[in-house]
Amino acid sequence: MKRDEDLRRTLARIDKKGYKAYKDIQGEYDFPRFRLFIDHVQGDPFASPSRVRVGVTRETSGFSADTTSSGSRTTALCDYLTRRFLDACKRFSRGNRGTGKSGLITIDRPGQEILQRSSMVVNAEVVEARFWVGLPARGRRISGKDAQIMLLKELPAIVDNAMFAGNTDLSDLYRHIELAEDADALRNQLSEMGLIAFVGNGALLPRASGIDPRPLDEAKAVRFFSPPSYEVEVDLPNRGTVSGMGIPKGVTLIVGGGYHGKSTLLNALEVGIYNHIYGDGRELCVADPQTVKIRASDGRNIEKTDISPFINNLPLSKDTTAFSTQNASGSTSQAANISEALEVGAEVLLLDEDTSATNFMIRDHRMQQLVSKDKEPITPFLDKVRQLYQDKGVSTVLVMGGSGDYFSVADHVIQLADYRAADVTRTAHEIAQNSATSRISEGGGEFGNIRCRIPVSSSFDPYRGGRRVKVAAKGLHEIIFGRTSVDLLDIEQLVDVSQTQAIAHAIHYAVQYMNGQRSLKEVVIRVLDDVENQGLDVLIPYKVGNLAGFRPMDLAAAVNRMRTLKVRTGA
Ligand code: ADP
Ligand code: MG
Repeated sequence: MKRDEDLRRTLARIDKKGYKAYKDIQGEYDFPRFRLFIDHVQGDPFASPSRVRVGVTRETSGFSADTTSSGSRTTALCDYLTRRFLDACKRFSRGNRGTGKSGLITIDRPGQEILQRSSMVVNAEVVEARFWVGLPARGRRISGKDAQIMLLKELPAIVDNAMFAGNTDLSDLYRHIELAEDADALRNQLSEMGLIAFVGNGALLPRASGIDPRPLDEAKAVRFFSPPSYEVEVDLPNRGTVSGMGIPKGVTLIVGGGYHGKSTLLNALEVGIYNHIYGDGRELCVADPQTVKIRASDGRNIEKTDISPFINNLPLSKDTTAFSTQNASGSTSQAANISEALEVGAEVLLLDEDTSATNFMIRDHRMQQLVSKDKEPITPFLDKVRQLYQDKGVSTVLVMGGSGDYFSVADHVIQLADYRAADVTRTAHEIAQNSATSRISEGGGEFGNIRCRIPVSSSFDPYRGGRRVKVAAKGLHEIIFGRTSVDLLDIEQLVDVSQTQAIAHAIHYAVQYMNGQRSLKEVVIRVLDDVENQGLDVLIPYKVGNLAGFRPMDLAAAVNRMRTLKVRTGA
């Protein structure tokens, strides 16, 4: 085994040589308190920085067994250590040291959510950090001296600071771990309490801005408190009893004037599938794990999706049990988004009038008189939302300030006024009774079945030309898969580019399970089972620190948005 001194000597030897000579430092090195793995050396100073790992034995790291006694705790510990490592990079590395990425030492950057990540792996044997180093150069000549400082001084300081319990603020760490554990416990209790979501009393929901997910300044924010009729108490393992609004299963409307906080509440439910960091304001806002935000996304590609519960009798008798288009309309895209979510097991749908197609949501009595049912392919969601719950057990939360027709189909109506929530269910139901419209329900007798689809493996070609595989995220909302680009802008519950990165690799990984028999649902569940059992590392043949956790429905949603996708329809 080579030692840190060997690395020092090699760096001295290749000083001022051409950049390619950096390949000589690839390998493993024993340092006094850790082992360094230089896995992949970048080709030039402007290329993606070099892939590096550091492993500390679990014993010397000093993190006790109770930090990893459950999946929930381990995820929180890894998230915490990633954050500390990133902070230490900022403190101990000087940054720019020449051309291109020279001087960079960095690790994945977590946001408001606590996600499963490959950036830090902790098990009984090791604590391992995966990160990137921009090996320094002047022009294209190696700066061996700078590299010595980075790898033999800055890096040991970072590791020392971030990867040992002795140098960790343990009360801060345990607060992080216990918070995540409480949020998971809360989420796991929802279903048996008959709930789909919980918003804690005192929660701070609004964000700093449309592009800044941190909480709005305390002085400007109105904190959330439950209407008395929806208040529930829940016992949590660390925090004890907490109270807040429990949103029951069924159909729930959020109503209220424009700018009174409706969408902000719905957004909190969307990201309630994730645990949040201390100080976020949404620490105790959780939603059923199978919650899917639905929106219209006109222009998207649709491949043989069964949208027949919502859309029938299209012009030119286009088959809506296996509907394909390269350019969906608002309503057909929204119908497909719902069908595809149901296909992979969504339990709760979230819809916001702001991002819905009007003709998908409503069709009032006057319109029914002017345009007869046989001339309108769309059955509005209004006539399907109850069947969805009664026949399929799928709940809906809907932001609707624009149409009172929904009062008749809602179990619960919550009004936001000046950012304060009130239960207005009884009044809404009275109004629905007293000013009954002559509107005719168009939903038929039942919701209807959705045919499953079987993906065809040959439609997933990861090659960019020749033998070069190209599978990667390009920002939060785009995947490059071979020669195609996949637009994910309408998958609104993705919060981290490392999730997109993991999904990109997961699509590639999933192909092995497409045998011409398995449905898309079966395929994505197999992939997620592997991730559950073997970690995110299973998705990719080498060890890399920029993968984050995602759900089966997110993977399916990405597959469904591939313009190259081909499927066979199943039963
Ligand atoms: P709506 O969907 O009812 O039109 P939004 O949820 O979009 O309203 O909120 C309108 C504005 O008010 C946004 O800028 C949002 O950040 C802010 N806001 C929402 N909830 C609160 C709150 N509880 N306290 C302070 N500001 C809020
Ligand atoms: Mg809104």
